[in-house]
Amino acid sequence: MNQSAVPDVSPSTLEVVPLGGLGEFGMNMMAVSWGDTTILIDAGVMFPDPDQLGVDLIIPDLTFVEARREKVKALVLTHAHEDHIGAVPHVMPLFDGPVYGTALTLAFVEPKLEEHEIEAGDRLRRVSPRDRITIGPFTIEFIRVTHSMPDCVALAISTPAGTIVHTGDFKIDQTPIDGEHFDLHRFAELGAEGVLALFADSTNIDRKGFTGSEIDVIDSFEELFTGTHGKLVVAAFSSSIYRMQILVDLATQFDRKVAFVGRSIVQNSEIAQRLGFLRVPVGVQIRDSEVASFAAQDVLCVVTGSQGEPQAALSRIAIDDHRNVKIGPDDTVVLSARVIPGNEKAIARAMSHVARRGADVVTADMKHVHVSGHGSAEELKLILSLVRPRYFVPIHGEYRHLSQHARVATRVMNGTDRKVHVLLAQDGDVIQFDDNGARIADKAPTGRVLIDVTRVGEVGDEVLRDRRHLAADGIIVAVVAISRHTGKLAGDPEIVARGFVVESGQAESLFGDAEGVIADCIDESSVEERTDQGLMTEKLRVGLRRFFKKRTGRRPLVLPVLMEI
Ligand SMILES: [Zn+2]
Ligand SMILES: [Zn+2]
Repeated sequence: MNQSAVPDVSPSTLEVVPLGGLGEFGMNMMAVSWGDTTILIDAGVMFPDPDQLGVDLIIPDLTFVEARREKVKALVLTHAHEDHIGAVPHVMPLFDGPVYGTALTLAFVEPKLEEHEIEAGDRLRRVSPRDRITIGPFTIEFIRVTHSMPDCVALAISTPAGTIVHTGDFKIDQTPIDGEHFDLHRFAELGAEGVLALFADSTNIDRKGFTGSEIDVIDSFEELFTGTHGKLVVAAFSSSIYRMQILVDLATQFDRKVAFVGRSIVQNSEIAQRLGFLRVPVGVQIRDSEVASFAAQDVLCVVTGSQGEPQAALSRIAIDDHRNVKIGPDDTVVLSARVIPGNEKAIARAMSHVARRGADVVTADMKHVHVSGHGSAEELKLILSLVRPRYFVPIHGEYRHLSQHARVATRVMNGTDRKVHVLLAQDGDVIQFDDNGARIADKAPTGRVLIDVTRVGEVGDEVLRDRRHLAADGIIVAVVAISRHTGKLAGDPEIVARGFVVESGQAESLFGDAEGVIADCIDESSVEERTDQGLMTEKLRVGLRRFFKKRTGRRPLVLPVLMEI
């Protein structure tokens, strides 16, 4: 944990502290305080880079929240994306108050709480756009915005120092699939009433023009539905409810059955249907176990794995290892998602496997099968023009996005009678607003906490976590040589342990059995899996971790090194 102290709130001062998301994409979280009341906005996660071995999730350092435990009165959520709600189960135990969100947002939070065995009781409070709630000196109004999923809101928070507006994530989609329009009127009204500070999404500031509506992908998908003679398999983010609706509607029109495949897509499509955000006509949906009993040209599969995740449905389908869904010539696989940086190799690998099955591959580079959920420069300028804040704080982006957004804001306000003051803040900056203006006055502890979901609870930040793993349980390096031609083991694997303590006389049998685990793991894999280094490394890591945990009760850092010879 970070050792620097959490500063006290100054009297008669509005204090805003970004705890995550200003300097990176992900783990969005912000604290807004006046006197004895602190409210938290969002509690998101970030996903690790592929080279952060053994890390499943990253959440913001919560030292600040722990230190303010008594003062934190509520958590307010803008929408249900993981980078805004993923850390809710880690934050809820740290304070007593309610969690506010729209119906869909809370429905996406619920299964997370169940997984963490957190009893929410009556703490989850559902709100709708234009609702207002009062928490101590704050009145929070929820304002409808459009994004890549339904039921998203921005926040207008009236405080003793003035009104602040937090956009959440947004684009301005003027033809929303569900007919729920961006509440531009309310933004304009707030602007007319006077806004102290605007905190706005910077994700796509470096894209010119307008992002475009979710419906923009329909034409391309229509072509794919017309042109595909076999099965259509579409990989999308599991939160892309609008994309699912478009696909369900087209499937209905083109007489195809729809199967949702992969745990998170099945779960989210169920939640969305239960709440009326996804409408599937009777008789259209089938289970993935029924896919094989329909002719290929009568089926659409909406699957997980758009980022090439080795355990997700698309990767399994691609290597012909999925129980229910097979692909072959005539079939088309569509990647209806952007490539998250860092995942290029994994995606390319999955695509090559698909190509080996003889199926066509369509990506967003080839056809317009994906559209971003974040507004481009013109949309961001429009919000600035409507809200006309006295202070502007770019949020949700890496430093270069924040600083570009700052430049744009200055240009938008240039020549008007209102000069905007830009505060280019980063995680942990304590932004104070009072009678004398606004400034970055202090630094609160922030950082990243890496979560290994097989562990209960959290581990310190990056360095501490690895040190602790190494200090407590050591490191196991398994050097595995695989024949390039057969994909089989070429010689015995070599296991090297450092700092890993075994009872005397046991080491030989333990490592011998570990070699057995490696051999079994490779034997059980198909030739195609064996020749996929990334996939095999992950399989071996999971297998060995499980083995050492079971046999020794310890969790050494396991590092398989795969060599083709
Ligand atoms: Zn979002
Ligand atoms: Zn976001």
